[in-house]
This record gives sequence, C-alpha cells and structure tokens, in this order.
Amino acid sequence: MQTSAETEPTVRIRELTKDKVNFVLENVDLAFANSFRRVMMADLPTVAIDMVEIETNTTVLPDEYIAHRLGMIPLMSSNCDEAIRYTRDCTCLAGCSFCSIMLHLHVSCNDDNTMNVTSNHLEVVPMPEDQDIQADPGEELSKRGEFFGHPVGKNDPNAEPVLICKIRKGQELKAKCTAKKGIAKEHAKWSPCSAVAFEYDPYNKLRHTSYWYETDIKQEWPLSENAKEEEAPRDDEPFDYLAKPNKFYLDVETDGSLGPQEVVMKGLAELQHKLANLMYSLKQGPDIDNQQNTGGVDPNGWNAAAPTNPTANVPVPPASTWSGGASSQWGSTSPGQRSTSNAGWGASPQAGGWGSSGATSGWSSPGQQSNGWNV
Ligand SMILES: [Zn+2]
Repeated sequence: MQTSAETEPTVRIRELTKDKVNFVLENVDLAFANSFRRVMMADLPTVAIDMVEIETNTTVLPDEYIAHRLGMIPLMSSNCDEAIRYTRDCTCLAGCSFCSIMLHLHVSCNDDNTMNVTSNHLEVVPMPEDQDIQADPGEELSKRGEFFGHPVGKNDPNAEPVLICKIRKGQELKAKCTAKKGIAKEHAKWSPCSAVAFEYDPYNKLRHTSYWYETDIKQEWPLSENAKEEEAPRDDEPFDYLAKPNKFYLDVETDGSLGPQEVVMKGLAELQHKLANLMYSLKQGPDIDNQQNTGGVDPNGWNAAAPTNPTANVPVPPASTWSGGASSQWGSTSPGQRSTSNAGWGASPQAGGWGSSGATSGWSSPGQQSNGWNV
C-alpha cells in the first residue's frame, strides 16, 4: 500500500537564491503543474510604468522607444495584490496615490563623456494632491514596503541598473512616468518572472515528444540534469501507454519585482482563487435553473448525476476533490454541446440556459451529463 508521502503532492526545493527557485513538484497531474506555471508567469500583479509624458527628449532615441524601455523596467512590487489598486477599481478620476506611482526622470549631459541614463535616475515622487484621497480610508498605503515602486536594484549598490539610453554633451531627457498595477496577460512588462523552466519525463518514456535525429538519438539529444532524478528505462522496456507524468521540474527566475518565494506562494493562491471562483459560479447555476425550470429535467439538476458535489466544497475545495478524472471530464466536451448555440454557457436564462428541457438545451440534458459536465 502506498503511504501518504507517495500520493500527496510534495514540493522539494533544490535551490533558492534571491531571484530564483528551483524545485521538484510531485504527485500532481500535468494539467495542474502547467496551470501553476502559467499562473506564475501571467496572473500575478506587479507595478510597471504604464504612462509616460515626455517633456524634453533631445537624445537620439524617439519618444516611443524610450517610453517602451521605461515600461519594461522592473519595479519593486512586493505585496502588490494588497498594496495598490487597479486604476479601474479606484474612485479617482486621473490617478491617485492608491492606484498609481509617479516617477520622474530628468537627466542632462554636460561633459564630453557619453553618459548612461539608467533606471537609477528614476525618482519616485509623491502623487499630486488629490482632494478625494483625504476622504478615502483605503489601507493600501500601509501595506507597502519602504521601496515599493522603486526600480529594482536602485537601492542595492551591487546591482547593475537597467540602461535606458545613452546621451552626449548637450542632450537631455526629461519625463514624467506613471506606474500602475497590472498583470502579464495584458502586457508582459507586468510579469514578475523573467523565465520559468518546466520539464517532466526527461527520458521521454511517455513519448510526449518526438525527437528528430540523424543517426543516434542518445548522442544527438543529451539528457538534462533532471534525468538524474529518474530511473533510466531499460532498452527492452515496453511502452506503457497508460502511464502519466507525476514529477515536474520547475525553475522560476524572477526579474526582482517579486521574490521567488512570493511568486510561488502567490501563484498557488491565485490558482486556488480561480478554481474557487469557478466552483462558486457552478453553484449559482442550478439555483437559477430550479427557479426557472419549466419541467422535463430532474429538479436536482446536473448535480444529481455528479460523483462529487462541488457545492459542498465552495469556496475552497480540498485537494481530494480535484484528483482523478477532472481533466477527462473537461476534455470530453462533444461537438454537439458546442453546437447548442442558443442555450449553452453564454445564453440568457430565457433562451434555455442551464435547466431547460428539450433538444436545444445546454448542459443539462441527460446525454450531455453522461458525456461531459459531471464535475
Ligand atoms: Zn486612484
């Protein structure tokens, strides 16, 4: 019998530095590991320069070019999810200290040497006074660290600053920049990660990869370091077409806006939050159905046929709810379900929605239940 250590998800950290963490994730399925990777790269909020007003630019680079470079500079964003608001959620009209950070850049060259304009020249300044702020009891400001919004490395004498442009005698660059909170799904400048390496099955036992080679596959495709973690397949080992990957090697490297530990922990929290939201939405569905149902469908709705009841686990389900079968159930969406255009997901309740009867109904007809939507 397997012990819990063999079946419970585990994380083993192999290396942890200031801006990088390398770890092995075990006993989760591929869909989870990949979702985790994607959430860390694209769904964690950070702050980045989003608006640039150029007052003077006599450098050789055009305004747009400089504005883009300013946007890509990583800014310290620790605790960003709580310490700053999205501008769209803020009550202000044109940016305030709860949703924006103002940075000024003013550099001119007065000697004969070429001068580097770098991220160290960016100075965080207080936002212009806004009347609304006085009345706003927002607590975001107290959750910020000392250097929140400052360019990464500015306060570290050992860190190399980010080069913005080079200027010569008589040239000047003066700009006002506004940094805002965002996520990398909108623009990559908001990603806290500079790279996320992800590998599983280094021996390709599962044959998820087809290698092109000329004569000798072993010579031409050297094994990765992660192969040391796994047992090499025997030459005569038969292909196990039922095998699934359960050991994943991740290497998360951040740009310094968030630390690697924060990226991993917030990534897990964000993933949990997304799934909880999904389950919560599912819980809403059958209630609406039962109210508007005109007959022909089991009043218990689709939950009656479900092996596990998501409503019992909202908002945060235990890990066991997720294991087994989830991916296959999602993946089995038949073309027939997609074609029920007047009823499915996006339809209004009047048009059928969740609980309507008849051939045009969406997810709740018996055939569709047995095929797909029994989470
Ligand atoms: Zn605001």
